[in-house]
Amino acid sequence: MSKDDVVLRVEDLQKSFGALIATDHATFEVERGTITGLIGPNGAGKSTLFNLVSGFYEPDGGTVTVNGTDVTGKEPYEVAEHGLIRTFQTPRKLEGMTVREAMLVGPRKQPGESFIKLFTDPGTVAEHEKKNLADVEQILEEFEIDHLATQPATDISGGQMKLVELARAMLAEPEVLLLDEPVAGVNPTLRNKLADQIRRLNEQGTTCLLIEHDMEFVMSLADPVVVLDRGSVLTEGTPAEIQSDDQVIDAYLGG
Ligand code: ADP
Ligand code: MG
Repeated sequence: MSKDDVVLRVEDLQKSFGALIATDHATFEVERGTITGLIGPNGAGKSTLFNLVSGFYEPDGGTVTVNGTDVTGKEPYEVAEHGLIRTFQTPRKLEGMTVREAMLVGPRKQPGESFIKLFTDPGTVAEHEKKNLADVEQILEEFEIDHLATQPATDISGGQMKLVELARAMLAEPEVLLLDEPVAGVNPTLRNKLADQIRRLNEQGTTCLLIEHDMEFVMSLADPVVVLDRGSVLTEGTPAEIQSDDQVIDAYLGG
């Protein structure tokens, strides 16, 4: 892989919580344009890795490089400025907001400010805020959730919430999108819809790093697949290689 093709590089990353080693010298690369899968048994350290890469946790050692820039130890908004956005395994609660308002407090720019202004002083909404609003409407339509726009964000189903979370992340126009279990607890219909959306975003140029427990889902979407076990990269390869790898089977069955 040439340097320009690598959009995310994780090198020798380490993170402990007390005596527990959650990330143990993890090293891998994500190639531009791919949907790269990140799998591993429960507790393997997948979400921790996302937290380290996206700036939510500070690593004890190692480096994270996004688009050729060392972002190790930077704040989430700084990492986002370099083009990397993540979704959460459990979307944050958005009490008292409609779906549209929740979209407006997405990861881009000054969180909160733009949407509060809409209520306190709608006449002064700046041009770029109007653009934000237009973007929100467009993305709601693209994700086929425009009919939910005025619903309280806490009243929609878990699956719809996952779509909103994905749509919100896209507002930031990320180059690399980190998806943490985007279909966990989602019914098959919405799961297919999410798969279609992820494929569409990827075809439009967004590189994805996808954590997912649902093997069928990840194996149908991702290539390559990176396997994490006890905080380290166990192996990586095509879905076919991973599914027939004895080490991988042992890691899952052995716990
Ligand atoms: P996965 O997403 O692969 O299921 P996690 O990254 O959530 O795994 O967790 C890896 C290990 O790190 C687990 O043993 C978990 O309990 C621990 N862990 C994760 N986050 C924290 C935290 N903030 N404090 C203490 N332990 C944590
Ligand atoms: Mg997790």
